[in-house]
Amino acid sequence: MRREEIVMVCCCDIAGQVRGKGMPAAELEARRQRGVGWTPTNIMITAFNDIAPGPWGAFGDLVLLPDLATHLRVDFGDDGPPEQFVLGDIRHLDGRPWECCPRDFLRRGLTALADEFGLSLKAAFEHELHYDRVEERPNAGYALDAYRRQGAFGEVFFHAMRQAGLEPDTFMAEYGPAQYEVTIGHQDGLGAADQAVILREMARASAHRLGGRASFTPILRPEAVGNGVHVHFSLWAGDDQPVMHAADGPGEIGPRAGAFAAGILAKLPAILALTAASPISYLRLTPNRWSASYDNLGLNDREAAVRICPVFETMGVARERQFHLEFRAADAAASPYMLLGAIVWSGLWGLRGDLPTPTPTTEDPSQMAEDRLAELGLQRLPLSLTAALDNLAGDDDIKAWLGPQFHEVYLGHKRFEIGLTAHLNDAARCERYRWVY
Ligand code: GLU
Ligand code: MG
Repeated sequence: MRREEIVMVCCCDIAGQVRGKGMPAAELEARRQRGVGWTPTNIMITAFNDIAPGPWGAFGDLVLLPDLATHLRVDFGDDGPPEQFVLGDIRHLDGRPWECCPRDFLRRGLTALADEFGLSLKAAFEHELHYDRVEERPNAGYALDAYRRQGAFGEVFFHAMRQAGLEPDTFMAEYGPAQYEVTIGHQDGLGAADQAVILREMARASAHRLGGRASFTPILRPEAVGNGVHVHFSLWAGDDQPVMHAADGPGEIGPRAGAFAAGILAKLPAILALTAASPISYLRLTPNRWSASYDNLGLNDREAAVRICPVFETMGVARERQFHLEFRAADAAASPYMLLGAIVWSGLWGLRGDLPTPTPTTEDPSQMAEDRLAELGLQRLPLSLTAALDNLAGDDDIKAWLGPQFHEVYLGHKRFEIGLTAHLNDAARCERYRWVY
């Protein structure tokens, strides 16, 4: 059958959903300044489709302007149409950035980091997911047979990512039920978040072509381990100069990276509402799940909120160019723009305050007595999205980073979403979220 190609112009909103409108693919270049019309209230559409009360109702108009650098067209080589979309920015009709555009929240943070400190950020998102076309088997973690039984999914997914301009790095069977992990190469700040959006969609598209589903739900069942999103990041000065490492720094962290990490950890009780953005995220953020449950900077510790990652001496890349940190208190309920934006803005806040590098931990905080926790200044992370949102509501710094309207909109959206599953138990709530992520 003859067809005409359609390209979707999309954004990734505060529900972490990719939404947009289609237009003739042949007109993409010509319409790059015009984009497609968009509606303010769309940002209030929750993960469950119910619309949270917001300031606009049925009023108002915006545009979704495509960023052609993100355009992808992936031919799966089956009978289906190519997967084709482009990510964009939500703007006012006169072209000004919209106050509630998640991508602009990240962009503004990156611009401030460059303007105030001459620093840029590179990042790579590491994702875990549940693939439903594979049996759950005991003892699956890293197992060759668990890799084998997912069939062609991994290879189709790698091909799709490669065609979309991503650099596949690893794919493996993870520890959880029908759980897989994928890593890709790093990118400059905004590009890293774009690629995280694209990676999730390529996984969903690949699974769909194979008649299945890939879900990035934060946790499949209350007793399972979660699907984490770990953000590996490093700061660079001027002409590609690494600034993370100092041989004599605490945990070998240089002063600027230390201030950045200190800002993230200081703001973690509030930014968690942006990085772990669903009620079930907090089932994952509990001890013994290799996620994060304390506000610590951990040396090679997979339960630290921010981990000092190892350096691979066999790699042949200088120590200071490899050395980086990993933010682990996140999952895919968060839009990658909100997640990376929260990291950048709070890190920037740490730099502005010239905060000292936190003392790296080498023990498990969940096993520490109260007085030891107090001595190290460590705190348990908020136990619920409600608690994290209350911290976000009371934080005037974050209100300034987001802008007052976006701050209010985010709180209203997420508090409404919590109400939508408040009547359910954890197991039923997990089941609901499995289908939206
Ligand atoms: N599944 C763990 C999480 O929820 C991460 C396991 C790992 O890759 O270290 O973050
Ligand atoms: Mg993993």
